Amino acid sequence: MTEQPYPIHYWEAPRSDEVGETIEQFLEQLEGPTWFYFPGKDNSRCRVVSTLLHGNEPSGLHALHHWILSNEVPATDLYCFLGSVAAAKQPPVFHHRMLPGKRDLNRCFRPPYNDEEGLVAADLLHRITSVQPEAVIDIHNTSGAGPSFAIGTELKPEHLIISSLFTERIIITDLNLGALMDYQEGGIPITTIECGGAHDPHAHALACEGFKRFALAPQLFADNQKIKAMDLYRHPIRVELIKGSELGFANGPIAGADLTLHQDVERYNFGLVNQGTNLGWLGPQGLASLVARDAQGYDHVQHFFAMEDECLLTRQDLKLFMITKNVEIALSDCLFYLVPIQEPEHFSKLDEVLT
Ligand SMILES: [Zn+2]
Repeated sequence: MTEQPYPIHYWEAPRSDEVGETIEQFLEQLEGPTWFYFPGKDNSRCRVVSTLLHGNEPSGLHALHHWILSNEVPATDLYCFLGSVAAAKQPPVFHHRMLPGKRDLNRCFRPPYNDEEGLVAADLLHRITSVQPEAVIDIHNTSGAGPSFAIGTELKPEHLIISSLFTERIIITDLNLGALMDYQEGGIPITTIECGGAHDPHAHALACEGFKRFALAPQLFADNQKIKAMDLYRHPIRVELIKGSELGFANGPIAGADLTLHQDVERYNFGLVNQGTNLGWLGPQGLASLVARDAQGYDHVQHFFAMEDECLLTRQDLKLFMITKNVEIALSDCLFYLVPIQEPEHFSKLDEVLT
């Protein structure tokens, strides 16, 4: 056997009296990435739940802990994976997405698999393909505050049905970043669930309830009625500040900033943003400091935004999402995503799409 320098630990069917009472105590019991196995009523099928790929996103850990405390038996065999245990444990607990100097584990699910995070990612993919699950869910929290949503890579009924166990919104994106859900080989549907903000008790409750539905449903794909209530967001436009820009959040323009977004901009997450809404204030570069790219890389800033005086205004009715007030993430990742709601290829109600 080849030696594994970064082994994934294994824990079979822990019972409620074997785990700590709080998620902090439960976390303390873990020594690193851990793969759990819970035998189900039907051992001929299985499902997989992945979570804590980001150490600062505890809702999925709440859900697994809650599940263990319930002592329930899943409908099928159930495997669970906890990823960035070390990052989560690093004080202050649940504050580090990854350990300093390490790669983001949820960007490592593509070759080369030659460093610590890559080896963990490759090991997880190997485990998933070995057990051939009916479905995989990967539970996360958003960086900003806001409601829950799911993300899939293709408009497949499996993604919609799994998503509807948790939320009423699904985003379909083909932006391949090396996330777990981007792994397409073998046709196993992998759906990302974003439960809402990392410190929001509603997000933890949603994760617990959805996890239970996922584990207990005798047939996952038998009932598709709930998907009719869902909103579908497709091909979102990614809005970023150009490199080297200064960003702030305030109730008025910050001197020297290329963009100041409204202090309460997170309240727009998934809400309707009407044409002419003032999102904040631009600096001396004006709109030139912003880019709004589609998946092909084309910029649409002028199509969606205008500057009047120094205000940043929307030019049409939009839905914005994944808005974060974490300046570091907003600058290194993106400010937010948008879809124009009058364009059905971008936004639709699923009851209008399905016949
Ligand atoms: Zn995450």
